[in-house]
Order: sequence, then structure tokens, then C-alpha cells
Amino acid sequence: MKFLKEAFLKSDPQQAFRDKLSMLDETGHRNKIYPARVSGFFRRYRDLTQVFLILIFLALPWMRVGGAQAVLFDLPRRQFAIFGLTFWAHDGPLVFLVAGSAAVCLFLMTAMLGRVWCGWACPQTVFLDGVFRRIEGWIEGSHLQRRELDRQGLSFQYLRKKGFKWLLFFVLSSLFAHSFIAYFTGADELLRMIREDPAQNMTPFLFVTIISLLLTFNFGWFREQLCIVVCPYGRFQSVLLDPHSITVMYDSVRGEPRKGVVKTDEKPGDCISCTRCVQVCPTGIDIRNASGQLECIACTACIDACDEVMKKINKPAGLIRYGSWSQQPLSQTWRRPRIVTYFVVLAGFLAALVYSVGSRKDLDAQILRAKESPYVVLPTSPGEKKILNHFHLHLHNQTSAPTRVRLKIPDEFVQRGVTLGSPGTEWDLASHEFKQIHFFVLAPPPLFIGTGNVPFYFLVNDERLEVQLVGPAN
Ligand code: SF4
Ligand code: SF4
Repeated sequence: MKFLKEAFLKSDPQQAFRDKLSMLDETGHRNKIYPARVSGFFRRYRDLTQVFLILIFLALPWMRVGGAQAVLFDLPRRQFAIFGLTFWAHDGPLVFLVAGSAAVCLFLMTAMLGRVWCGWACPQTVFLDGVFRRIEGWIEGSHLQRRELDRQGLSFQYLRKKGFKWLLFFVLSSLFAHSFIAYFTGADELLRMIREDPAQNMTPFLFVTIISLLLTFNFGWFREQLCIVVCPYGRFQSVLLDPHSITVMYDSVRGEPRKGVVKTDEKPGDCISCTRCVQVCPTGIDIRNASGQLECIACTACIDACDEVMKKINKPAGLIRYGSWSQQPLSQTWRRPRIVTYFVVLAGFLAALVYSVGSRKDLDAQILRAKESPYVVLPTSPGEKKILNHFHLHLHNQTSAPTRVRLKIPDEFVQRGVTLGSPGTEWDLASHEFKQIHFFVLAPPPLFIGTGNVPFYFLVNDERLEVQLVGPAN
């Protein structure tokens, strides 16, 4: 640690921010960040977005489409329901297409609008900023009061406020953990388990308790470190940006030389060095050092903070604003190769996804030959024999409505003496039901003479399923 401190002290103070992460002090220990609350244009819209996203997260498990939970990831049954569409493990290519589309969408969004996902829609930001920091502010006061409370250390007031805060954090984390689990167990099943003794559902109980504790730890203590040192997207997002990407930027041409560094013969810039933009930053950085810093989650708090200051000193807003290095509007730069490439790849993924979903059959029917001997010669009456082939019919109703399935031998084969030996030819399948049926085909020996194999097909409802009938060639 000593060498870190020495290296830090030796560096140029103007450039010292490059030597370490904003959340670390010169000894490498964590610098606790106390961001000030801010109001303004973007804050209002971020509040609305956060409320909307949290309500969606809480409500989705309770919403139903076509009688089934709107979004359900039923891992034990390998069944995934998304707004009326149900996917199974054999729909793996669809999952690949959905994941691919989401990844390319994120790349496209970052190349065009920087870390807009991080600042506006990432669950870490939405819950931390929209719920936990807000509650912390209600209990412990402003950023200065929170800092002072921590500085004073153990006291009755400290224990009371911290104890109440952590209790509330755990209760809310537990609520969010239950809501999260409902996406996997189903909301009705979750309610059933909540009503029962935890000992009867020990695994889900432990799982939800661990998630609640992890969320409490993350939103109560770990916080911005998740964005800065853990999140892989946060680490590689800078390679997705280019000079035309729209990010949160400080206008150094207008702002510099800022107050405090202006020389006597220079015209001062608009930045009055009030550090309000730094005080509100949830990751503790100074946006004036550079745009697109690793720690910047593009939350826009510094824009609102600086606009407030500019208003007070009668200067135009926008010293910190959304902008790009090229200073060209997105409408003129979106046709660049990187964006066009992402658009084309995304369009390909979406087209494949739409085609795959559109071409899914309501009834998945397959006929497989049984594993035992290929055929059996069966005496049916004195001097008469039939060739018996054994098959399995696998049926899967892929819709949420019941359906009826009919198995039929085509007329052209009925006329050649082929018959069906099965416990029935019609079956009812409940919504999403799987069924396996064993049946036999009886065919006259002359059908096989000279070939041994006869191309054949069944009709399952109106679908033609092709197989081979096998018998003695002589
Ligand atoms: S809030 Fe604006 S004026 Fe104040 S330090 Fe930041 S950039 Fe300068
Ligand atoms: S620099 Fe501004 S936009 Fe970036 S994280 Fe800090 S406050 Fe948010």
C-alpha cells in the first residue's frame, strides 16, 4: 500500500484521477461515496422510468396471458412462457436468437447513445437510485448529514438510524427476492410456499433468503462497486463507443479555464468550480476530467446539477450535456459503418426469430420406430400371416388450449391391406401436455416382396409423417 501512496503523491495533481478508481483513496481503500440528491429535467424523467420499471418487475409474475403466467421460467420442467408463447428445451435455437438479439441491441444502443442502459434501465441503478438511496436519504438525511453520521461513529442515534435502515433494506430486498423467485416458481406456487412452514420448502426458502441477503449487501454496501469492478458490460463498454456516440459530456471549450485555474490575462470559462457535479455523482467522479470515464454510468445527475448552477449564475444551461466528441447530431452520424453493421446483424436475428416463432407448430408430433426387432411375422388365422411393425407416437400440445389428435393410415395403404393396431386413433391433449402412445401397423407380406422396405406415411391430423415399413423381402 505504501508504494501506491507514494506513486499517487508523486503524480501530477491535475492528472491524479487517472492513477486510481474514483472509489479508492490513495492507499487503495474504498472511499465511501455520499452522492447529493439533485432535481431537474432528467431527474424527473428518471424517476418516472424507475417507478415504471419497478412496477413492471413486481406486476409481471401476477399477470396472465391465455390462462398462463405472462412470464415464467419453469426450470425443472424446462418450460418458458413469455406473453402467451411457451418454449421448451428443444426450442434452444430460439433462446440463442433471443439472447443474440438482446446482445446486439445493447451494442447498437451503446454505439449510438453510450451507457444509456446503465443510467436509465439497469436494475442495479433503478433499484439503488430509485429505492435504496431514497430510503437512506429519508432516514439519514442529506449527503452531508450522512457523512457526518458516519464520521461521528457509534452513538444511540447512529445505531437507531443504521439499524432501522438495514432492517428496511432487508425487508425490501426480501420483497424483491420473492418477486424474482416468482418468475421461476410461478406466482401461485410461491404463494402456496409462503403459506406453508418453511421446513416443507427448505430449498426455495434457503434460496430466497440468500438472494435477500445478497440484495441487502449489494444495495446497502457494495453499490457502485458492482458497476465499476464487477459488471462485464461496464468494463468493455468503452470499446463500443466511437467519437459519434452520444454520452454525458462536459463542454470544456465553454467551461475552461474554470474558476480557480484561470490566469489573470485569460477570459474565464463558465465553470465556477462549485463541484456540484461531483457531489451528485453516484460513482464519485469528476465529469470535467474526461467524458466516457470507466466509472461514468451516464445517470445524467451532473447535467441536472450543473444546469441548476448555470441558472443561478444566469448562464445558459448545457455546460454538461448529452453530446458527442464529433459534436455532430445523431441524425447525421447514425449511418456510420459500425451502426449499419449492428442494424444489419440485429435485423438478421429478429427476422430469424420471427420466422422461427411464426413457423412453430401448435402440435409437435413425431413417430419413431420401437427399438426391438424391426418386424414380427404374426399368424392371424390358419394359413394367413401379417407383418407387424411397432412404433411410438410422441405428441406435444404446444398451445395453452386443449386439442384433439387423430392418427390415420392413408386410404392408398388401406386399400393395399395395411391396418392399424392401436388402443385408439384419437386422443385428447390438455394444454402443454406430452403424450407417448405405442401402436402397431399390420401389413400383408406381399407388400414387402422384392424390397423389404416400403416407404410409408401416417396422417396425424393433417400432417404427413414419413416412416419405413419393414418386412421380409421374400
Ligand atoms: S456543476 Fe458546472 S459549474 Fe459547477 S463545477 Fe460542475 S461543471 Fe463547473
Ligand atoms: S459523471 Fe455524471 S453521468 Fe457520469 S455517473 Fe457521474 S453524475 Fe452520472
